[in-house]
Amino acid sequence: MLTLNTKIERLASVGPSVKKTLNKLGIFYLEDLFFHLPFRYIDFTQKIPIGQAQVGQMVTLQGQLVSIASRRSFRSRLSFTEATLVDNTGEIKLIWFNQPYLAKQFKEGNQIIVAGKIDRFKTNQLTNPYFEIIDQENNSETGKIIPIYHLTAGITNLRLLKLVKLAYQSVQPMFVELIADKLLSKFKLPNLTEAISELHFPKSTSAINKARLRVAVEDVLPQQVAAQIKQKALDSSTAPDIKTDVEFIKSIIQELPWDLTNAQKRATWDILQDLSAGKPMNRLLEGDVGSGKTVVAMLAAAMTNQAGFQTLILAPTEILAKQHYKTFQKLLPQYAGQIGLLTSGIVLSGKNSASKDQWWEDAQSEQLGIMVGTHALLKQDLSLNKLGLIIIDEQHRFGVGQRAFLGKQHQSDMVPHLLSMSATPIPRTLALSLFGGLQISQLKSLPTGRQRITTQLFSESQRQTAYKKIASEIADGRQIFIITPKVEETDSAVKSVKAEYERLQKLFPKNRLGLVYGGLKSADKELVMNQFAEGKLDILVATTVIEIGIDVPNATVILIEGAENFGLAQLHQLRGRVGRGQHPSYCFLFTTDDQHLDNERLKSFETITDGFVLAEHDLAQRGFGDLFGQDQSGFNFRYPKFITLEALKLSQEIATDMLLLPANDEHKAQLIKLTKPYLEQVHLE
Ligand code: ADP
Ligand code: MG
Repeated sequence: MLTLNTKIERLASVGPSVKKTLNKLGIFYLEDLFFHLPFRYIDFTQKIPIGQAQVGQMVTLQGQLVSIASRRSFRSRLSFTEATLVDNTGEIKLIWFNQPYLAKQFKEGNQIIVAGKIDRFKTNQLTNPYFEIIDQENNSETGKIIPIYHLTAGITNLRLLKLVKLAYQSVQPMFVELIADKLLSKFKLPNLTEAISELHFPKSTSAINKARLRVAVEDVLPQQVAAQIKQKALDSSTAPDIKTDVEFIKSIIQELPWDLTNAQKRATWDILQDLSAGKPMNRLLEGDVGSGKTVVAMLAAAMTNQAGFQTLILAPTEILAKQHYKTFQKLLPQYAGQIGLLTSGIVLSGKNSASKDQWWEDAQSEQLGIMVGTHALLKQDLSLNKLGLIIIDEQHRFGVGQRAFLGKQHQSDMVPHLLSMSATPIPRTLALSLFGGLQISQLKSLPTGRQRITTQLFSESQRQTAYKKIASEIADGRQIFIITPKVEETDSAVKSVKAEYERLQKLFPKNRLGLVYGGLKSADKELVMNQFAEGKLDILVATTVIEIGIDVPNATVILIEGAENFGLAQLHQLRGRVGRGQHPSYCFLFTTDDQHLDNERLKSFETITDGFVLAEHDLAQRGFGDLFGQDQSGFNFRYPKFITLEALKLSQEIATDMLLLPANDEHKAQLIKLTKPYLEQVHLE
């Protein structure tokens, strides 16, 4: 008998090669197949005559294929398949890029249905349209709403759809339900089993939307329940009382080399109030790259130190930790002896180098008051008596366990205050629905004197213009970032960044190039990053592993390849790596091929420079998943694209109601089990 836990290859018609293909998609068991949900749908009931198709319109057309040809463009190195689709009202060109096998699949005279958006390039055309060849066998699939799945080479959409159908017939799946029946009816939601089935075999667009909402709620509910449990616990615990000494803070601010921005003053004030409120602070400090979060963190640490408590500051890389240490040493000279740095490579207690053992001893004996470090801080049980404040920089870079470890580094029953910092411009509405009781400070304005960054989307034919600008910047002594996207298969990503590096070496033979990507050892990565930071390299070719917080004021151009692959927030963070010094700076965007040139998001990215405006814009248009891009959010949501603000708000309400159910309710018990990993987090996220 087949069940949810049956291996996929036990399904009739899944041979070794299809098995391999499915495995590549993350499908190993029948259950995985059911949860491999379509990301889009095509409504084949909306067919129109070819003669009526207008540029810019999303259409479904049916006709006969003629003049099929496969070509290679030597200018852009692209291969493409072209054909013409004819019905008795007109004809239209069809073009598919990089799918040379299509020419073999198509036969002159085939009846096919295609769906896509009409664009114009000399004549009207459909670029990379979804299609189905109509024959005896699959006639049944046409004339209704067709789910479109993420695929990989070796399997077609239709084949996958048929497998899902077969699996459904064999298993009749029933999925574990997290939400109590009476809440499903209160909120008018389908149960999970109904929702999943609707998504594979849709009856109507409105039912699809309901089902997606249901799945999104399922996805975020454990996190929401955990947030509410944690909030209750925090509200009833005590924290070190760090009294605000206004004169003291003013005296430090007066010595800063610049005036604080109003946003920095407000954030500092908010934090100081939290620190003296008696219960643990739980605050997120959000601000664009370069908005000056570090000095706000520093003032909080200084106040904590002055009040006789210690601060731990965790940074994701050695470069950033060192950068913070140097900043603190410079701006808080009166505490020089109490500011320490611990990374795997550098150990400084005050200004002196120390052994690791000595460093821990200095931390324990309260000789050190402000301790900056990397993951190395997480290697030893500190059990600090006087830990008052934990600051986590680029907080999404740390795993759950690591944050949990820090949360335990205090001895008393006082819970330390927590400040986390992030350059991801999460819109306030979104942050509140994600984190519930979290407090938020935003640094919306950049310090004055910052350079505006000119952003420009280039077509392939303008590539030389971009390279000329890069060459002239290098000639002026400036530095350049070139970013290639991380593609799904890690291996090919490495290859492509390496290939790009080799290509660029030939293009810029006189310049010094460096290469950084995820697969490098972290020591090697840091070595290259350091060389770039110290001006020993002209061009850094990298995937997005390059650090968000890295401050290289001399870098003036960031060129991003395959820009359509990145989330807007991610693009914005990448852009923030330039424009940090006194030189005018540029962000150049290239897309994989020219068909992405009218990409709405990239166009808005050209004109919108404020990260928060950009994020609100993206959230409103495309939802949560697109905002963050790949592993940007720090959440492991399975269906980020389904998670809308509506879904977040709804799951907050459901979470509250679920917690009110009696402890022996079986749905509640299920749900509570799933909250465990979230409960172990320090933060409420
Ligand atoms: P981020 O928010 O990205 O962590 P940083 O704290 O690293 O930004 O600040 C970026 C740069 O701006 C640093 O070189 C810092 O010295 C400088 N800076 C911070 N605040 C101000 C200010 N109010 N006026 C001018 N420069 C500032
Ligand atoms: Mg920073």
